[in-house]
Amino acid sequence: MNEVIRLEEIRKTYHLGDQSVEVLKGVSLGIQPGEMVSLTGASGSGKSTLMNLLGCLDRPSSGKYWLDGHDVSQLSPAQRARMRGEKLGFVFQSFQLLSRTSALDNVLLPLEYASHTVDRREARRRAQQLLERVGLGERLDHEPSQLSGGQQQRVAIARSLINRPALLLADEPTGNLDSKTSREILQLFKELHRNEGLTIVIVTHDPHVAQAAERIIRLSDGLVVEDTRTDAALATSGAPTP
Ligand code: ADP
Ligand code: MG
Repeated sequence: MNEVIRLEEIRKTYHLGDQSVEVLKGVSLGIQPGEMVSLTGASGSGKSTLMNLLGCLDRPSSGKYWLDGHDVSQLSPAQRARMRGEKLGFVFQSFQLLSRTSALDNVLLPLEYASHTVDRREARRRAQQLLERVGLGERLDHEPSQLSGGQQQRVAIARSLINRPALLLADEPTGNLDSKTSREILQLFKELHRNEGLTIVIVTHDPHVAQAAERIIRLSDGLVVEDTRTDAALATSGAPTP
């Protein structure tokens, strides 16, 4: 089976006038289907830069990136946009929902950009199922302003799944939530991962959030300095805990 992500010697250099800053300095890693991974590191370590590459929002200065078996290292912006629509779901710290738009229509939105045609009735049925899946079956017609932060993030998670992505990328998904709501959202990610085999990468600077995943990849100064299994991984594999 294909890895969902394979990075080989990824480098990214930003050029500002005659200055150049190398932000990623040779990152290599693989992520298997069904893994739940945290990408962590201090501020400035290169997390957002790597996230932008993984999310096909930008391309590396050098190195190779295969997404679900496709070499996406050197695609044009239009080709990258298409890859995003076909392969990726995004969840952001600030939810990024459309205001004055129902939860159901927010979840349907990515289909407007899909390259394939979709049956509208079937799409609405699927959006409704996803909202039920994230616990908002009674809130289909609510607009973002009528929902709590945690509920808005649930809508965003449902939206991220409408295209059946190979990979869900979540950038500080609990950064705007209180600690109880954060735990609930992390629990939802865990369930989607465990029950539906979703591949998830969560970018976070928060060690507690990072611990929710089965694997933690830590960046420091543009390099992977740690790649370890967590207690959550032991719990799922049924290994005895000390
Ligand atoms: P993190 O998300 O881990 O805080 P970033 O990837 O945002 O780290 O940034 C890593 C480094 O790259 C920082 O030193 C930042 O100043 C620099 N950087 C990020 N984006 C740009 C850019 N567009 N142009 C120049 N430098 C950048
Ligand atoms: Mg960042």
